[in-house]
Amino acid sequence: MFDLTAGADRRPDGLFALGHDVHGCACCAPMLPAVLEATYGRLDVAPSGIARVPRPAQVGTLILVNASILTMNALAPEAEAMVIRDGRVVHVGRRDEAKAFADGDSVIVDCGGRTVLPGFIEPHLHLIPIALLEHCENLGPFRYPSVNEALLALSRVTAATRAGDWVVGRQFDPSLQSGPRELTRDLLDAVSDTHPILIYNASLHIAYCNSFALKLAGIGADTPNPSGAEIGREADGSPNGVLKGGAAIALVARHNTALRNADPAEACLAVLRRANRVGFTTVCDQGTGLMQGAAELALYARLRESGAMTCRFRYSLGDARAADWDRAGIACGDGDAWMRATGWKIVSDGSNQGLTGLQRDPYRNADHAGIAYVQADALRDKVLQRLAEGWQVAIHANGDRAIDNTLDAFAAAAAAGLDVAGRRCRIEHCSILHDEHIERMRALGVSPSFLIGHVYWWGQAFRDVIFGPDKAALLDRTAACETAGIRWTLHSDEPVTEMGPLRCIQNAVTRALWRDPEHPLAPQECVSVEAALRAMTIDAAWQCHSDHEIGSLEVGKLADFVVLAADPRRVPVDQIGAIAVEQTWVEGVCVHARGEATGPGH
Ligand SMILES: [Zn+2]
Ligand SMILES: [Zn+2]
Repeated sequence: MFDLTAGADRRPDGLFALGHDVHGCACCAPMLPAVLEATYGRLDVAPSGIARVPRPAQVGTLILVNASILTMNALAPEAEAMVIRDGRVVHVGRRDEAKAFADGDSVIVDCGGRTVLPGFIEPHLHLIPIALLEHCENLGPFRYPSVNEALLALSRVTAATRAGDWVVGRQFDPSLQSGPRELTRDLLDAVSDTHPILIYNASLHIAYCNSFALKLAGIGADTPNPSGAEIGREADGSPNGVLKGGAAIALVARHNTALRNADPAEACLAVLRRANRVGFTTVCDQGTGLMQGAAELALYARLRESGAMTCRFRYSLGDARAADWDRAGIACGDGDAWMRATGWKIVSDGSNQGLTGLQRDPYRNADHAGIAYVQADALRDKVLQRLAEGWQVAIHANGDRAIDNTLDAFAAAAAAGLDVAGRRCRIEHCSILHDEHIERMRALGVSPSFLIGHVYWWGQAFRDVIFGPDKAALLDRTAACETAGIRWTLHSDEPVTEMGPLRCIQNAVTRALWRDPEHPLAPQECVSVEAALRAMTIDAAWQCHSDHEIGSLEVGKLADFVVLAADPRRVPVDQIGAIAVEQTWVEGVCVHARGEATGPGH
């Protein structure tokens, strides 16, 4: 079944040594910067210049009628009509009242009784890593449960690609995909010998290539291993296509000139358009600068200046690049409604599925309790400093000890008179929560954002392998937080899992497991559809310091909304994720219409 440590160091006694996190998330994957810079070069260099395709223009007055509007405004939760002028909501309520806004310039849209919600808000993803990985075909387990299916998909891609052009894939994960443990040169040659092929392992520590790519890179039996890395070999010394470590991967990746010449800003815009297609109107990056520091702000500036963004953007600065931010003099709240700095992100431990999340007790099948990426004293000092500067502090903490340390740091800040609650400090992932954690969070005014795909995709592994059933039941305690009156949100952490607000809502409502759907994980933590909708709209806006302008449909707010094919409250709970997003609107402009080319760049 699960081999969660495929690729990790296994000791002779069968325990897993602490070392490579084969499931490192983008927050804490040390390989990502090196591998992606080898592939794409520098982010502050714009090779071709961004295409300045403006967003479509707003119409005069837009009147939506015959809609089932869930406003997410607790004071007036439902409405049948909405009027929009200059990108803002000027009326939400009854149809007859809305008609009074009609003028010579107005457009009336009949929604056919369909459900209208505020645009969804993703409070935690990693924009630049996603954008750079967007050029790679996703061959991962959530799309292809077996290696064979992944290779068939790869064959379809190569068949549609001009001979000689690169085919690049990602997310190959032998711990979750059944079949061979490695993609060797021979397996990939069977897919194509007329295209160079390079496939990244989900961990990014390892990549695999075919003979065409090895030849382009000039790698043969005589090629020495680069320092700190290894070229996988057959018994006779010839390369077998497996590349271990960034320096070995770079030997091949740097020959992909199409990617080196691509403009990463264009790739970011493509990610924002994909976000629109699943219903997002705002996304928040949790770790800006982790790849290339201030160069990423230069890239953001080009995005904003392009006038071609179709999704709002918020970001937290990665603490690992603190010196860059201090030099740049950037402050919390800098920016505007399209793009704004809202947080300061600190990574305090690794991931539970990678056995690097910091625990109170050792993992079940290991003789260690994870890794503190920041020691408790240093964490407290960072929190005190950045809160005093006015930042919202967001701390990545997966294991229960990491959450202890995080709450200790916030408690020290509160004791020093700093406004922990007012700055809406967050715990990212916040995976393993004991009752006393929840009580401390409530008392301090700290709110969690849950990577809810942990339950669906890894829940069974947590229950059966990593933690056992008792501790696994403490994973992503949405209902317990709801009962305690704590505001909480859901996130994808893409590229860890794929962004999809309706899928996240379904995961939180059902807590079903990917390969054991009959046994939901800790069903007492299931929440109502209404609560999960709040988490993906108004509460996410609140966590991103943006609820004054987005997150609900009420007079004065920006007209960001989605039209869904069905009401998530009225379909079977296991169908919520499959509801079609018919339309997505940002600031009164339609940026996605299902089945139609909409907006710039389509
Ligand atoms: Zn993350
Ligand atoms: Zn993280």
